[in-house]
Amino acid sequence: MADTLDVPEIPHTENVALDPAKTALVVVDMQNDFVADDGSLQVPDARATVPVIAALVARFRAAGARIVFTQDTHRAGDPEFAIWPVHAVEGTAGWAIVEELTPLPEDTVIRKPRYDAFYGTALDHLLRQWGVSTLVICGTVANICVHYTASSAALRWYGVVIPRDAVSALDPFDLAASLRQTTSLLAGRVTTAGGIDVA
Ligand code: ZN
Repeated sequence: MADTLDVPEIPHTENVALDPAKTALVVVDMQNDFVADDGSLQVPDARATVPVIAALVARFRAAGARIVFTQDTHRAGDPEFAIWPVHAVEGTAGWAIVEELTPLPEDTVIRKPRYDAFYGTALDHLLRQWGVSTLVICGTVANICVHYTASSAALRWYGVVIPRDAVSALDPFDLAASLRQTTSLLAGRVTTAGGIDVA
């Protein structure tokens, strides 16, 4: 195996026009443990995405589109803590969504036990009730909870859009691999937050 790998081309879609009645914005795990400097599983690049995501939330809100926040939620002794440091323990400050992105009462918060926001939650049920067919997925970690949620959405035939300036990862290789898979096997679109038109 080669010691170095070239990063393959990741297809980029300049503009993505979306119907606000059929699109939901999914903000994945923007919680203090992943974003804050004292977070137990901090993703250093996540902080820079907060204003980008806040602007996306404002635009989706103005367009009347559904907004979903996922919240990684664990309890003491969770088996995930054999893989990762203890994080997102229900009720702790680290579990809370970052203040700048605090959900409003009309938003939907999905507490999820694993990477995939569909696993063990009512997300699919709600999206179908709402008539949503496309998800714009942002947040962190790009190749973990964002990616598994995008994969699970695509398996259910939802359209997937990833604004690449609104996701963050611990490792640039993992980020590139995730975006590459999103555009190839998930048939998703990778764009920028500014390239999304929901009006
Ligand atoms: Zn977790």
